[in-house]
This record gives sequence, structure tokens and C-alpha cells, in this order.
Amino acid sequence: MKHFAKPFLLSAALAVATVVPVHAEIDVARLKAAIETSFEADYPKLDALYKDLHAEPELAFAEVKTAARLAAEMRALGFEVTEKVGRTGLVAIYKNGEGPTIMVRTELDALPMEEKTDLPYASRVKTAWNGKETFVAHSCGHDIHMASWVGTAKTLVGLKDQWRGTLMFIAQPAEEIGAGAMAMLADGLFTRFKKPDFAFALHAGGYPHGYVNYRVGAGSSNFDGLYIKFRGRGGHGAMPQRTIDPVMMAARFIVDVQSVISREKDPTEFGIISIGAINSGTVGNIIPDDATLLGTIRSFRPEVRAKMLAGIERTAKAVAEMSDAPAPLIQLTEGTKAVINDPELVATAEKALKAAFGERLRLSPPNTTSEDFSEFGGSGVPLMMFHIGVYDVEKWTAANKSGTPLAANHSPQFAPVPKPTLQTGITAMTLAVLSAFDQHARGK
Ligand SMILES: [Zn+2]
Ligand SMILES: [Zn+2]
Repeated sequence: MKHFAKPFLLSAALAVATVVPVHAEIDVARLKAAIETSFEADYPKLDALYKDLHAEPELAFAEVKTAARLAAEMRALGFEVTEKVGRTGLVAIYKNGEGPTIMVRTELDALPMEEKTDLPYASRVKTAWNGKETFVAHSCGHDIHMASWVGTAKTLVGLKDQWRGTLMFIAQPAEEIGAGAMAMLADGLFTRFKKPDFAFALHAGGYPHGYVNYRVGAGSSNFDGLYIKFRGRGGHGAMPQRTIDPVMMAARFIVDVQSVISREKDPTEFGIISIGAINSGTVGNIIPDDATLLGTIRSFRPEVRAKMLAGIERTAKAVAEMSDAPAPLIQLTEGTKAVINDPELVATAEKALKAAFGERLRLSPPNTTSEDFSEFGGSGVPLMMFHIGVYDVEKWTAANKSGTPLAANHSPQFAPVPKPTLQTGITAMTLAVLSAFDQHARGK
């Protein structure tokens, strides 16, 4: 394995021509120009950081080298860094006078899958996972988030005459298994360290770079897991009258449960029930004893979620009763909650981002995927999560026309174009943080 390069040192390249007083609305045009100048000067080091992280991905709660690399980068920028918060997470604090504490979060973890890009820095890393060997790849873009996070920290330190308060940069483990945010909170993130006044995060997505997508309110879905075991009575496939067929029950449930979505849920509300795994039986002429289903349940609103969970349980019990079978085992496990973007925080950032990105800032519908950044909101911190594109617009348009769109997150072909993607991430995040400091300083 290749060793990580040394962290880059804070350059004095950042200087804004006129100092903007803390109590005036931020001058986005001037700040954007300063951020871009700083970005150009830092880019060789950011590019190396991104490619190193990309080439050496680590899975959830095993992000040891990744966390150590980020800790070194943040210490070099003058942050006070605490490691091993929530197992492999880290907290980096930078104090700059009286003012609010603003949290910026990145994830650390990669996915258990093989990268199939032809990039020179593609990952070939393999590791043990759940008793098997697996490839590891940053196919969700968390490496883009980490490099943007370090770049934003450096930019904000360079612009420290523009804001007053505390930066709380956290690197969170295990987002992909929905466990890292909770692990950091359980390890005293908001008690050992100050609970922040606001928190920001960004996520990369499979659309053109230079674009920033944001939302007010729900930005991702509530996620619940489904486990149902139908209990029958096994026997010979040629003598079904002497059995209670659990495969039949499972099949009936899979079809009937969709009527919870189509007939019980308000059709204008979002809700999904998907069964992703069916486990039962061994050969064709034996009716097995039981059948197990695994599934996922997604929703935005708590009322819709409650209605769906009740409908799933009722359908499963009714299906078993129709077969005169014992009651099924039903476990609907609560997963991550929807990220709710705070209207006031979003309104403040929106003004700055609109001035910087114009038509390329887009209000977009919520994602149906889930994200444990919501856990910090659940602890009472106003949140904003926004998304940035990663592809060259010409290639993206041509691919769409050809009928084979470019790969989205979690695809083995997911391949962000580093420089413009990082430039957008760092510019947008820096301006979002500066706008929140400014709004707070003006007492609004
Ligand atoms: Zn992901
Ligand atoms: Zn992700």
C-alpha cells in the first residue's frame, strides 16, 4: 500500500482586498473570487489528497488510515483535533473569537464493492468483511466530501478576518451502514464538545459539476428495515394438504403488501416498500418449514411512516391467518430518519449561494435514499445538506442522449471529475458557513 503524502501547510495565499466588516451582509462576489484564488493555489495538494483517499478506501468503522490522514491535515491548519470519537471519527475545532459554533461534517467510509473505472487512481483495495474478502471503493463520493472538507477548513482559516466564532469540523465513520453519526453522539460529540448552533454537510451526485442542489424540509427519507418470518409446516411437495406452505404465504405477502402503498397511503405522499431478499427451502419437491423476507421501507413524513408500518404488520398477520399458520415473526427496525433542512438556515445560505452560482443553484426534490446526517438534527441542531454534481456537462448530456446515462453513486463506474467538483464543493460550503456566521453576527 502506498503511504499518504505529508499534510499541506497553511499558505498565506488567501487575502481579500477589502476587509468586510463582520456586521455587514457578506460580499459574495469578492469572497468567491478570494476562494477561487485560494483554491487554485491549493489545488495540487488537494488533488493529491483526493486521489490518495480514493485509491485507499476503508470500510465502516475501519477508517483508521483515512482518519489519521485527515487529523494530520487539520492539525497542520491549526485545528485542535480529537481522534477516536465514535470509534474512528474525529473532531477538529478552530476558535476565532466570540460567535456561534458551526459544524461541517464529512463521512470517512467507503463501500464493499469493486471499482470498475479505468482511472489511474482507481482502488484495487481488498479487505475482510463479514467473514468474506471484498473489494473496497469510494463509489459514493465520500472522498470528494473529505477533500472538500479539508479545502473548506483551509479556506475559512485563510478568511478568518471575515468571521467570528468556532469551526467544528467532524469526520464521521460508518455512514454507509447508518451507524457512525449515532456512534459519535453516543461518545459525547455534543457533551464533550460544544453542541453546534448550525451544521452543514454536502454530498456528491451523478450530474454535471458546477451545480448545487438544495432543499427546504425533508431532503432524504426515513429508513426502516423489514424482517418477516412466515412459519408453516414442511412436508412433501406432492402432498401439500399435509403442510402449511410458507412460500405461498411469502409470495402472497409480497404482492398484497403493495396495496398498503397503492390503496392505504395518500397517493400524493412518498412511501416505498421493497422486498430485497427471500430465503426459504432447498429443493423443488420439499415444502419448507418457514420463509424469511428482508425488505426496506422508505418515507418522508412520520404519519405516512406510521401508516405503512401498521399496514405491513396487518398484512403479514392476515396472510398467515389465511393459511391457518402460526402468527409470523415481524421485526420492523427503526433506521435513520429523514434529513430535515432548517428553513431559516437554508434561506440564509440560499442568498449567498444564489449570488455565487446563479441558475446553477437549483431547488430540487428530496432524495428517496437515507442519510444519518439526520441524527445531528434529531439532537436539536438546525441542519442544511446540499448536493454537488461531479461530471462534465458535455459528457453527461451526450450519455443521456445515447440512452446510457453516466453512473450514479454506488455504481462501480462512479467517477467524479476531481477539480471542478472540489472547486464547487469548497466554494459552496465556504459561502454557506460564512453566510451563517454573518447572519448570526447581525442578530437575525
Ligand atoms: Zn452511499
Ligand atoms: Zn454517501
